[in-house]
Parts: sequence; structure tokens; C-alpha cells
Amino acid sequence: MKVIVVGSSHGGYEAVREILANDPDAEIQWYEKGDFLSFLSCGMQLYLEGVVKDVNSVRYATPEKMRAQGVAVYTKEEITSIDPKAHTVHVQNHNNETEREEKYDKLILSAGAVPAAIPVPGKDLDNVYAMRGRDWAIKLKAKTVDPDVKNVVVIGSGYIGIEAAEVFAKAGKHVTVIDLLPRLLSLYLDAEFTDTLTKEMTDHDIYPAVGQAVQRFDGQDGKVTQVVTDQATYPADLVVEAAGIKPNTAWLKDTLELDQKGLIKIDEYLRTSQPDIFAVGDATLVRFAPTGGPARIALATNARRQGRYAAKNLVDAKYPVPAVSGSSALSVFDYKFASTGIKEGTAKAYGVDTKSVFVTDTYRPPFVPESAGNTKVFFKLTYDPKDGRVLGAQIMSKANVTANINAISLAIQGKMTIDDLAYADFFFQPGFDRPWNIINVAAQKAQRAN
Ligand code: FAD
Repeated sequence: MKVIVVGSSHGGYEAVREILANDPDAEIQWYEKGDFLSFLSCGMQLYLEGVVKDVNSVRYATPEKMRAQGVAVYTKEEITSIDPKAHTVHVQNHNNETEREEKYDKLILSAGAVPAAIPVPGKDLDNVYAMRGRDWAIKLKAKTVDPDVKNVVVIGSGYIGIEAAEVFAKAGKHVTVIDLLPRLLSLYLDAEFTDTLTKEMTDHDIYPAVGQAVQRFDGQDGKVTQVVTDQATYPADLVVEAAGIKPNTAWLKDTLELDQKGLIKIDEYLRTSQPDIFAVGDATLVRFAPTGGPARIALATNARRQGRYAAKNLVDAKYPVPAVSGSSALSVFDYKFASTGIKEGTAKAYGVDTKSVFVTDTYRPPFVPESAGNTKVFFKLTYDPKDGRVLGAQIMSKANVTANINAISLAIQGKMTIDDLAYADFFFQPGFDRPWNIINVAAQKAQRAN
């Protein structure tokens, strides 16, 4: 069997690994249109902050190691079209500008997404950057140490924008974060959390310019100098656009069924609308666990799981991929937070009725002094008021209690209710938590409120 895998980031990498494990005799061709195999943008902040020194180490796979396992690796070679009937792909080799057709028995696409540029006047000025992939990582790194860069404007306050803001604030720059929505991180956390985080950011010289629409970028000598919104003007030596992504699927629009946003429609076995073509990762429309309906969730965790499942289902579609809860975590200076599923702020967009309880407590028993690291935890549990089914949760603390969100993700997948969580058996040890885990406490409060 000859399998062609397109894209070398999270989804493509996992697909290749799983094919190697399941079918060592398969012929695998792995294509990456960039010149670097398997760069992982998730590690970019660590590189930009100097924790990871070598940009080339932010990867799982090298061409040499993969070739040693029998994988035919092609970098700077782009798949530009597919002929599903003939079972061929068209390859554009950017190393020597040649072209060829390659036959496949099975094709796995993990073509991912690209940053969506804001379509305003001035968008092509110099120093308007994005934050995705190795090339941008190298360019951004140079700006962190450029003394001419004093004012940085980040557009978009999702987790990528917030990572960018923290990087440049730590590098001593004055940072403004502009977002159309009225709160920073509002798709990830409700106001009980973002109020605290916004203060944490302003304390570190990050100015939140929320509820504002970017109207244009002004420049001088071809370089950006300021960002103009519908409400104010912000000086900018560098703009980092992090206001969303668009699926890298324009080249597939006449071949595969896509949704209105260009996301590839797949079934639970990762099969597309064409036989023997599978798709995974940020370019796909996924099934959202809290609602069972389709959703757009761009996370490495999802791409990786899908990559494995596509490979498992190549010959015989037997393994439905689990639905996605959309769990993510991040730190903002001293605070660490995580969330999963539906928040009050996103419930309307998903068309669901929700009820929530919010609890704060110390993460260890009250007799443990603050000097020993005992600190506050904020937790919010969201559920369906009709039947108590768990729909989502958010947690934040200066202690790292983010792993609680994985338990909630599992509860969502398992369609558990607040009754299941109220007295669920969680460990207690005063070094780590309290006799009642915060999930128990919140679910018990929800029982009383319902
Ligand atoms: P992509 O990562 O977009 O990769 C697609 C690859 O395919 C690219 O290398 C591209 O060049 C190549 N390609 C595309 N088309 C072709 C073609 N026609 N021919 C050949 N090659 C092609 N997620 C998390 O879960 N946790 C995190 O902490 C996290 N942090 C992140 C931080 C940043 C700054 C960013 C930008 C993203 C982060 N993500 C995180 C999201 C995560 O990186 C993505 O969800 C993940 O990379 C998606 O993987 P993918 O394989 O779908 O596609």
C-alpha cells in the first residue's frame, strides 16, 4: 500500500508514526511545502523567550530520522492538486521547479491553516507580522532584541495573541492588545477570570484595547508606525496579527466538500467526501463533544489524535475518533489557567442553555500557610440546567492546577452530570489539594443550585 501524507506538523507527523507502527511494509511519502520538516508552533513562545535556544529543535521529526525508518521525506515539495479518480497528486518541487504526478492508494491531508491577515489599508507595510511557523518565529525573535522596536501592537487576544503580548512585554516593550470583543481571552474564559488576568497584564505594561475594530495601519518609508482603530490610535514599531486563522484549503475547493469557511468536511473516521482521501487537523471541521455538533477547533491535541485515527482507519474504517472538548491551557505571567468545553461567553454561539457555578478557594487546606505556596484557585463549572450534564469548565490559579480540566474534558466526553462529579473519588493530600477536590466542591454547589 502506498500512502501519501501532506503536511509535516502535528497531524501529518502522527499519521506517519501510526502508519509505521501499524503497517511497516507500507510505502510512505511525506510532503512538506516549507523547507523545514515538522516545526511545532506550540513551542514558539518558549523559543522567543529564550527558554529554548535553538529554533531548529522545536520539532519532533527530522528528515534523517524519518528516512532511516523508511519514510520518503520531501521538503519544499508542494501538493498543488489531487485527481481523486486517478488516485494521483500533482507535486510542485520548489527545489528545482519541476513537476510530477505521484500515485497513491491512500492520501492523508494535514494541510493546516495560515494566519488570517486583517484586510485593512496598510496591511502590506513592513513590520506587520504573524505568529505561526518557523519563519515567523525567527523574524519575531529578532524583534524581541531590536532596540528600535519600542511599541508593539498585538491584534487578537486569543491564546496566540496573549503569548505574543507576554513575549514582548518580557522583552521590555510597551504592548497594546487590540480585540474586537469586549474582553481579553473572551473565547477561553469568562469575566470572573479575565478581570484578574487583565489586571495582571496591565501590571506588566500590556494595555488592553478591547471592543475596538482596527481600521488601518499607517506607515512611513514603507514601515508601520501606528494602528488606527475606530476609537484610538496606537504607536507601533511592530504589529503582530493574531486575529484568527484560515484553513489552507483553497487548492482543494474543487476536489473535496468544504464548509462555508473552507474547512474540510470529514466523517468520524476522518474520511473526506472522496474515496481514500482522509483529512485531519486545523483544516477540518470537528465534532464538538458538549453539543455533538460540528465546530472549528484548532488545537495540536486534536490534530494529533486525528492523525493517529486516520492512519488506523486507512484500510478498514473501524475506529471512530472521539469528539473534541476543546481543552487548552496557558500561563499569563504568574497565573496559569485552563478551560474546556462551553463557557457562558460562548454558549450563545453554540445555541445551548447553560447554568454555571463559580467557586474560589485555596488549593490546599487553610492550615497550609501562603508562604508554603498555598494560594487561591478560581473554578467555574458549566452544565445543562435540564439534566445537569457537564458542558465545560474553567480554572485559574498561581499554582498549577490546570490538570483538573482534563478530568472535566473526560466528564464531557463521557456525558457525565454534576451528580457524577459531586462525590467523585478524587485523591487528597495536603501537599497537593484539599479533602474535597475543587471539582467536587463546584458540583456540590451546582446540585444545591439546581
Ligand atoms: P499546521 O500546523 O498548520 O501544519 C500544516 C503543514 O502542512 C505546514 O507545515 C504547511 O507548510 C504544510 N502544507 C500545507 N499545505 C501543503 C501542501 N499542499 N503540500 C505540502 N505541504 C503543505 N495547540 C495546542 O494544542 N497547544 C498549544 O500549546 C498550542 N500552541 C500554539 C501556539 C502558537 C503560536 C500557534 C500558532 C499554534 C498553537 N497551537 C497549539 C495550535 C497548533 O499549532 C495547531 O493546532 C497545529 O499545528 C495544527 O496542526 P496541523 O497538522 O493541522 O497543521
